[in-house]
Amino acid sequence: MKFGTKVIHAGIEPDPSSGAIMTPIFQTSTYVQDAPGDHKGFEYARTQNPTRTALENNLAALENGKYGICFASGMAAMDAIVKLLKSGDEVISTNDLYGGSYRLLTKVYNAFGIHSKFIDLTTPANLENAIGDNTRLIWIETPTNPMLNVVDIKAICDIAKAHGIMTVVDNTFASPYLQNPLNLGADVVMHSSTKYLGGHSDVVQGAVITSNKEVADRLYFIQNSTGAVPGPQDCFLMLRGIKTLHLRVQRSCDNARKIAHWLRDHDKVANTYYPGFEDFKNHDICKAQMRDFGGMVSFDLKENTLEAANKVLSNTHLFSLAESLGGVESLIGHPASMTHASIPREERLKVGLTDSLIRLSVGVEDVDDLIADLGAAFQ
Ligand SMILES: *Cc1c(COP(=O)(O)O)cnc(C)c1O
Repeated sequence: MKFGTKVIHAGIEPDPSSGAIMTPIFQTSTYVQDAPGDHKGFEYARTQNPTRTALENNLAALENGKYGICFASGMAAMDAIVKLLKSGDEVISTNDLYGGSYRLLTKVYNAFGIHSKFIDLTTPANLENAIGDNTRLIWIETPTNPMLNVVDIKAICDIAKAHGIMTVVDNTFASPYLQNPLNLGADVVMHSSTKYLGGHSDVVQGAVITSNKEVADRLYFIQNSTGAVPGPQDCFLMLRGIKTLHLRVQRSCDNARKIAHWLRDHDKVANTYYPGFEDFKNHDICKAQMRDFGGMVSFDLKENTLEAANKVLSNTHLFSLAESLGGVESLIGHPASMTHASIPREERLKVGLTDSLIRLSVGVEDVDDLIADLGAAFQ
């Protein structure tokens, strides 16, 4: 099955009791048994729910994996993966990691004896030097937020494999339509399904996909033991959102491409960050490992001040000022004061995250209207 068919059909059967084409919302906490232990595969809804099972099978297929495991948020999904480790183990990750992921690794897991190193993974050779005796997990994010740095997944996985270390890719920014890390050698893929997978800014959810049975069994055990499971309504909304994933993400990519080129030519814009530019670092790797260049674009202003950024941020009408990304509606954000406010200014500036840097999550509206909206806000 090709991707555009999988989003609609993989893992999904008409309901056997009614023929309903849409997977029912099994709003139940428990299941009746004929005799103790004599049941239809469902005992208690933290452990299993048929709506969730359909979603988990669908997600596994989208990432070309064997097992899908859903969680109540992207952070809960990451938390379950880190729980595969034990005290004394070490994680290596990128130095421009999603803020929530950085917070989980440092502010939560340091206290349990799991320590993390953050390095520039856009140059794979850096990893070889950073690996130590206790390194057990490499956490990749690509493209990154908000600078859209691209990490060579296959090169990193090859190095990790040679050392017997597990690799996980946070595939949130690309979505499974654009990038399938398991095909490139990753052991595990993680999603904040809240973003492109759900796609309509109405659900918070996370997912983990793997083809490794041992890892999957352990993750199902953690899912059931710690209980951060999504409810059936949210699983239904996720299944519905995914049916148009390929259409939405392709339109976002097409719109983002036009907006990125328009921004680069604008006389008030200093730098435009978009992996689709031929002179963008690791553009060739991006082209090889992704189907298109994604729907995210960042830029900063020649008048490089917070005030100048604020003028643009508060004068768009179609682009809504909000955190998050990946929905059908376009969003505009200011990382220095919103998502990355906890990072010291000197640290931000080192990676190009200037005071006037603005991040766009380009939605699926008509691109002419989006460009006109930005144009008016620049006046
Ligand atoms: C949003 C996000 C997360 C966290 O997911 P939640 O669903 O908000 O818990 C993790 N990684 C990336 C790259 C994200 O954008």
